[in-house]
Amino acid sequence: MLINPDRFRQSMEEMARVGATKGGGVNRLTLSDADKQARDLFAGWADGAGLELRIDEMGNMFARRAGRENDAPPAMAGSHLDSVPNGGRFDGSLGVLAALEAVRTLNDKNISTRRPVEIVNWTNEEGPRFPPSMMGSGVFAGAIPLESAYEAKDAEGARFIDELERIGYRGDAPCTPRPVGSYLELHIEQGPALVSEGVQVGVVEGIFGLTWLRVTMKGERDHAGPTPMHMRRDALVGAARTIAAIREIPGKLHPEFVATVGEFSLSPNAINVIPDDVTFSVDFRHSDPDLLREARKLIEEATHREAEKENLEIEIQDVGGSTPTAFDANAARAVRSACEESGYSHRSMWSAAGHDARYAADLGPTAMIFVPCVAGKSHSEEEDMDWEDAYRGCDVLARGLLKMADS
Ligand SMILES: [Zn+2]
Repeated sequence: MLINPDRFRQSMEEMARVGATKGGGVNRLTLSDADKQARDLFAGWADGAGLELRIDEMGNMFARRAGRENDAPPAMAGSHLDSVPNGGRFDGSLGVLAALEAVRTLNDKNISTRRPVEIVNWTNEEGPRFPPSMMGSGVFAGAIPLESAYEAKDAEGARFIDELERIGYRGDAPCTPRPVGSYLELHIEQGPALVSEGVQVGVVEGIFGLTWLRVTMKGERDHAGPTPMHMRRDALVGAARTIAAIREIPGKLHPEFVATVGEFSLSPNAINVIPDDVTFSVDFRHSDPDLLREARKLIEEATHREAEKENLEIEIQDVGGSTPTAFDANAARAVRSACEESGYSHRSMWSAAGHDARYAADLGPTAMIFVPCVAGKSHSEEEDMDWEDAYRGCDVLARGLLKMADS
């Protein structure tokens, strides 16, 4: 391998002790004390590697190694050090520390690159404390206004900007779009494809688009006893049938199409009252914008059809979403040829989960590298991976980064 696996593992294990939970995971919510500790640890390592650390107004951290042409846009690699509550040790840390290991390797071998190389730790990738997710990279790409990020509040009412200042990571560098020579992000797959197919590396060529809808169905509240069945306008029955119909839609479209009803509320939610008001969410995702449009049409048709049977009124609202993001063909090619140099099995794939790479892709050639995680599990303390897979991912990242830094 190009990299030093033992050193990489030591850094990963040291980082995993920051905010460690009893169940073997980490709790490093954005801008918490544990997030600050993780940042301090990374900053110390960056300093030890002779890197120049720059922190921007969002707290995004950029650790820079000079290149031969320092005016050229940097070759970047990174991910995030924050976690969901009781999250896994590898989600995010893997990408930041593999980039650090790649740079340490360049130092060991005295390799100079044409472009400067920057390791990035994006602020608030996860988002559960301060929604939305991918906030640091979103502001950096100009997709989220800095002011609205600063005003985000957690459940206790603490403001993002106050917490950023409290932990000492409100930097001076402007968080505005700047040209990126390339961006590579190594991440655990968070799904079962690689592990179930026995493939070592995923060459990620894009991120699924997603649509979020909120569906409201209204009927008529009435007594559960005296109201005959044929006179009922039961909103829950209509919603239940609609949800069952939505479950069948992905199978008609594509094997990788996914749709989820994750939120549900019911009124009045009482044992002897016919429900008159039901609201539920729909989240659906795929790489093909035409199929996303088709799914939306099918979901609307199913809602209208089931509402009609029960004589309900309906409302369908758009509450968010993103278009599919196709990554750069040259960046993906660099990852693929890095796999081939090392003899690792690989396959092309798209990510069904959001990543900072989605915003980085707006600023320069971007691709991601996925490695298998045990049972495809993540956002959980049970998240785990085989160290050999982590080393292979790190090795591919280092080789890919080197190619992009000289391109
Ligand atoms: Zn992540």
